Amino acid sequence: MPDHIDMAVEISDLYLERRIRAARQPVPIGVPGECEQCYEDSPRLVGGRCAPCRDGKRR
Ligand SMILES: [Zn+2]
Repeated sequence: MPDHIDMAVEISDLYLERRIRAARQPVPIGVPGECEQCYEDSPRLVGGRCAPCRDGKRR
């Protein structure tokens, strides 16, 4: 029985560590390409959208 408890603790520690690591992911840096929303070339698309579209601002 104690072995099973140790294993469960180990597994939950691993899970927690993975979640912490995922939360530490840096802000997406973006990629150059064509915006999905305004079809303009942008040097930094995040989620397929350029900065003005993400901010909800028109140039
Ligand atoms: Zn755009």
